[in-house]
Amino acid sequence: MTTLPSPVHVIGGGLAGSEACWQLVSAGVPVILHEMRGGKRNGESITTNAHQTDGLAELVCSNSFRSDDWQFNAVGLLHEEMRRAGSLILASADKHQVPAGGALAMDRDNFSAAVTEALSNHPLVTIVREEVTTLADKDWENIVVATGPLTSESLSQYVLDVSGEGQLSFFDAIAPIIHYESIDMSKAWKQSRYDKEGPGGDAAAYINCPMDKDQYEAFIDALLAGPKAEFKDWEHVPYFDGCLPIEVMAERGRETLRYGPMKPVGLTNPHNPTVKAHAIIQLRQDNALGTLYNMVGFQTKLKHGAQADVFRMIPGLENAQFARLGGLHRNTFIQSPKILDRELRLKSHPAARFAGQITGVEGYVESAAIGLLAGRFAAAQALGKTLPAPPETTALGALLNHITIGHLEGGSFQPMNINYGLLPQLEAPKVDENGQKIPLKERGRAKKRLMSLRALQDLQDWLNIA
Ligand SMILES: Cc1cc2nc3c(=O)[nH]c(=O)nc-3n(C[C@H](O)[C@H](O)[C@H](O)COP(=O)(O)OP(=O)(O)OC[C@H]3O[C@@H](n4cnc5c(N)ncnc54)[C@H](O)[C@@H]3O)c2cc1C
Repeated sequence: MTTLPSPVHVIGGGLAGSEACWQLVSAGVPVILHEMRGGKRNGESITTNAHQTDGLAELVCSNSFRSDDWQFNAVGLLHEEMRRAGSLILASADKHQVPAGGALAMDRDNFSAAVTEALSNHPLVTIVREEVTTLADKDWENIVVATGPLTSESLSQYVLDVSGEGQLSFFDAIAPIIHYESIDMSKAWKQSRYDKEGPGGDAAAYINCPMDKDQYEAFIDALLAGPKAEFKDWEHVPYFDGCLPIEVMAERGRETLRYGPMKPVGLTNPHNPTVKAHAIIQLRQDNALGTLYNMVGFQTKLKHGAQADVFRMIPGLENAQFARLGGLHRNTFIQSPKILDRELRLKSHPAARFAGQITGVEGYVESAAIGLLAGRFAAAQALGKTLPAPPETTALGALLNHITIGHLEGGSFQPMNINYGLLPQLEAPKVDENGQKIPLKERGRAKKRLMSLRALQDLQDWLNIA
């Protein structure tokens, strides 16, 4: 008779925790899943401000996993990689799909019921309906913390205590991030303010976009008029003076931005050196690959549709492609690149791995993807094996890189969706597989397809050894 390894404790039965459980039991490792919904606190039923049911993997808002196109869309590629890695979340979504064009959307109740049933009926899964308030009094050796953006207060406090001051955020204040190749460098230029060299010795670290007075005034009008997202009472974000939304700054006075994130000092436009810009927007490199740039100081509550329109008024950004738009949300997440190792373990308490949105990925699919990786890493540990990280050329590997090593030293770490900018780039092809010339405007798409094909090939090599 073979003896089973000790159970892994998974905390949180959302998208990430459910997927982590499935990967563990699929590898033959027993799991105890602790989910607080359905349990009691001081005699009262426990829930969160967003969940409506006690079901596992409840979708708290939209019922869509976004595009399902693996050839030309990074989240579609992530779906496909997860399917190939035996994901329960993707299998349940596929089974309960509803018509949604090119998107993968599902009946939320049937989806959650399918995940709940698969785990409840599995002989290696024990589900305990309870809140885990701390790990300090537990002797568990292999833990996956997947408690999500609405992690309960007491466990958040424990995470803060064990990870250190400043390593846990309760809100994200995100500035938009733009694909470098969509910035018009015939209008923008690279230069650091006062040509100051950073630690990397680069005096041209920022991309600068200039505005004249008329452009600035029109921009302020558009910012003030643009529709803003509303806060629900429980997600009200306290504003700190250091990270005010730009529209709030504009409301404080039309010149405020010119003395704040849009100040035009210490910079000379090489395309027009004799004319002093009235205002300048700076973009800072956001990932080590140099494919993404964030708009410095541009955290905003403008609605997403309005953001694209307003920010494309900026000279140089007329055709900007956004890897993500800005936002302010209630979101519990840790500074993963500083406090987690490459296998998602907390450096200060290596028995605990983190997974899901709390690690600084954003969205249902990305959260489940990190659950998949955490489950596989935890299974390898339980079985006395080691598992290499998935290649950086895969969507899974690129996400793992983002939350463990991918951010730039000194830059801020903010939650991120999967996008092609996180993967190592390929040259856009000029001819197709049949030697036919690809028109210029279709080369970007052709490049995405090549990157997707490379990802699936490299994923297969990893799955063969994983
Ligand atoms: C209001 C809101 C709207 C959102 N809308 C969308 C959207 O439309 N599309 C999208 O892709 N993403 C959306 N998100 C993000 C979405 O929540 C996440 O992408 C996804 O649910 C994260 O998965 P997760 O497993 O990390 O966390 P969750 O799915 O939230 O799961 C965490 C689980 O942990 C449990 N838990 C928490 N603390 C404890 C504890 N101490 N002990 C035991 N259990 C605990 C919770 O009850 C929950 O079941 C939204 C988030 C919020 C807050």
